[in-house]
Amino acid sequence: MKKELEKTYNSGENEDKIYQKWEESGYFNPDNLNLPADAPSYTIVLPPPNITAKLHIGHSCMLAIEDLLIRYRRMSGYRALWLPGTDHAAIATQMVVEKKIFQETGKTRHDLGREKLLEEIWKFLRSTQATILHQTKRMGSSLNWSREAFTFDKERQRAVNRMFVDMYREGVIYRGERIVNWCPHCHSTLADDEVEYKEQQAKLYTFKYSPDFPISISTTRPETKLGDTAVAVSPKDERYKKYIGQEYKVDFCGQALNIKIIADRNVESDFGTGALGVTPAHSMVDWQMAAANNLPIIKVINEDGLIHEGFGKYSGLTAIAARQAIVDELTARGLMEKEENITNNLSVCYRCDTPIEPLPSKQWFIGVDKKLERLGNKSLKEKALEAAQTKQITFIPERFDKRYQDWMENLHDWCISRQIWFGHSIPVWYKGEETYCGEKAPEGDGWIKDEDTLDTWFSSGMWTFSTLGWPDNYKNGVKTGDLAKFHPTQVLETGYEILTLWVSRMVMMSFFALGEIPFEHVYLHGTILDGKGKKMSKSKGNGVDPLDAISEYGADALRLSLLMGATPGNDSRYSAEKIESKRNFINKLWNISRFILSSTDEKYFVTPTDSIPEAKTLADKWILGEMNNLIKSVTGRFESFEFSLAAEELNDFTWNKLADWYLEIAKVEKDKEEILIYLLKNILILWHPFIPFVTETIWDSFNDSILMVAVWPKVIEGLDDKKIEMALVQDIIVAIRNARSANKIEPAKKLEAIIYGHKLTVFLDGQKEIIKNLKTGLASLEIKEAGENIEKAIMVPVGETIIYLVGAIDEAKEKERLIKEQANLEKLILMQTQKLNNSDFVSRAPEKIVAAEKEKLSNYQQELAKIANIIISL
Ligand SMILES: [Zn+2]
Repeated sequence: MKKELEKTYNSGENEDKIYQKWEESGYFNPDNLNLPADAPSYTIVLPPPNITAKLHIGHSCMLAIEDLLIRYRRMSGYRALWLPGTDHAAIATQMVVEKKIFQETGKTRHDLGREKLLEEIWKFLRSTQATILHQTKRMGSSLNWSREAFTFDKERQRAVNRMFVDMYREGVIYRGERIVNWCPHCHSTLADDEVEYKEQQAKLYTFKYSPDFPISISTTRPETKLGDTAVAVSPKDERYKKYIGQEYKVDFCGQALNIKIIADRNVESDFGTGALGVTPAHSMVDWQMAAANNLPIIKVINEDGLIHEGFGKYSGLTAIAARQAIVDELTARGLMEKEENITNNLSVCYRCDTPIEPLPSKQWFIGVDKKLERLGNKSLKEKALEAAQTKQITFIPERFDKRYQDWMENLHDWCISRQIWFGHSIPVWYKGEETYCGEKAPEGDGWIKDEDTLDTWFSSGMWTFSTLGWPDNYKNGVKTGDLAKFHPTQVLETGYEILTLWVSRMVMMSFFALGEIPFEHVYLHGTILDGKGKKMSKSKGNGVDPLDAISEYGADALRLSLLMGATPGNDSRYSAEKIESKRNFINKLWNISRFILSSTDEKYFVTPTDSIPEAKTLADKWILGEMNNLIKSVTGRFESFEFSLAAEELNDFTWNKLADWYLEIAKVEKDKEEILIYLLKNILILWHPFIPFVTETIWDSFNDSILMVAVWPKVIEGLDDKKIEMALVQDIIVAIRNARSANKIEPAKKLEAIIYGHKLTVFLDGQKEIIKNLKTGLASLEIKEAGENIEKAIMVPVGETIIYLVGAIDEAKEKERLIKEQANLEKLILMQTQKLNNSDFVSRAPEKIVAAEKEKLSNYQQELAKIANIIISL
């Protein structure tokens, strides 16, 4: 069974083999974990990557965090399910494919037609889906592939249809004419948070519609004034009071307009002229004023961003060209009063940067304020807010709780229809004035299906339950099957930038479908920036393909570099040097394992991890105690999502305590096979969630079982870790090493040492072998209680203990060293005295701590006194 580990670890050779071994074991599927019936579930749904492109390094970060969480829970006895899938990303995908086709053939989607375009999109997504799958596996993701889903597969189409129909029947979904954010380039509506704002230089024009109109107005978009039906003023504005309620027929640049003067409390008297031209068709605010005042609505700009028919010479012009024409005309007519340069915010499409046109349009909406009887007469918005307020859902980091709630509070009805071809169709048919909504087409002839498709967030908003068999697994308010076992899920881990776009929608959709939260914790990771702190993007060419990093350094090194030093919600920088240093650590772990396994007889390989082996020496007790401390601490860190700190602690144990100290001690004290195997097994288990491949490879070389399902070690309460005693021994060893190096003593030169141990004499005598042999370069070591000052020797005080090194003194160098040490001690004494003079500290700190600090001070003082004596004698 023993397989000797290769001299160096080769990630390329081992990773694929190990992944295959895991897949064949079946343990990615929680149903195969042989757990007791009452084992708790732990579910994470993978945020489905868009199939628009292959994965980038940000996805690797997400995969590393989620895989860590799932592996930890799987080893801790949970029914751990990590559910994979991909997102069809409706509008994004259609845009990518349209662009690709246009670049390759010069054809637009209108040249191709709906059917052919969809065919091309499916071809494209099959290839990207395969790439994404491959990349995900290479990261070591322990996803349950037999439950893989796609937001646009048959099951999800059924779920989406059912959700739409249910919401429609309960009056949550409705159709209405509204001002929507329209992208003339994407030719579709955008949700409010798909609109981005860009600061721009603009001109604010002040003019009158016509010479006989009494009020001047200001606007940055004179072309939209062709659709004005009113001028709004503040009801308190003395200048305009007398005009309120009057109507005027005006000739605005050759177009006849009917303008009514209305009063509105929202108009600010001190902005511009204090009067606002009301354009109901192209502004959300004006739309509301029109509704309140019964004003007609005149559409000026069409879906292509051009001036509508019926506006004479302006018809067919782009908005920009029409603006110039109108400005020229106003100037020619002597109506232009002022042109000012201002800075304002331009709304643009988040996908293509095209300026948004607000347009009136008939669309489908989800009414977020609609009260629902089965939700205790609360609306989806209220339930979603309540979930955060009552901490049913918590956010990591916590500051995102406020962002979530702020956004929720200001949420308007959600427009869910999109005028694109690729996406879930809307299960609605029309015949004349009749509308039918159902999962299947209505009977009879003459029904025409709604041509729009659904916003991509509608289907991804259902991701936690559509993947667990909803609606089949939900009858009369009772969950069955996977839905009963795995919902609500435990953690949603995603990027903070989709907190509002996605996370908030999931909460509302889950409350509607199941009356419960979709997840308990939302963990938000930051963005991975390039080495210079810039956002990575395909167009800038500064992106990193995770597969390249994996080929060069291995998946474990990449994972560890993304997990260590990263904190939730904060951006971090990609660094090849960092990955390289993690690869070096992995090699170190490999070498430690190789050393232990090669110096241990096979019969010890079965050493169990659930009981502590017998400790024979102080060092044994210490390392076993430290191991116990480590288990406790790392487990706690995992529970509170502090992965980076867990890795730091593991790193410190592995590198410093185990490799630098205990393995060296083991060479001196011998006969530690059981303890070494016990330690090795435990560090492999604890490291496994971070670096699964190398730990599994090492484990595989001396075990018949699979590390992925090894049992997470338990903490033993009240175990004495002998920390203080061991620290004394370590201090003495380090002090001897430092004194040698400060005196520039050749490593090969052996010295004689005499230690005056005072009350520690018996204790130190027990540790004599370690002190003598642990790279201290001692030919002999004598430990006495006390004695005369030894001349011509290097003197090193450690607390009450004094060490003399005989046989190599260079008086000048030694004096120099002691003077330095004297200065150092004086500084320490000063700091320590200040600390103990601080009444705040002394009164608040526990007595034990204050006593320890006092002892420290007294040790420093004793050391200083000894050094001062020696300096005088030299
Ligand atoms: Zn666009």
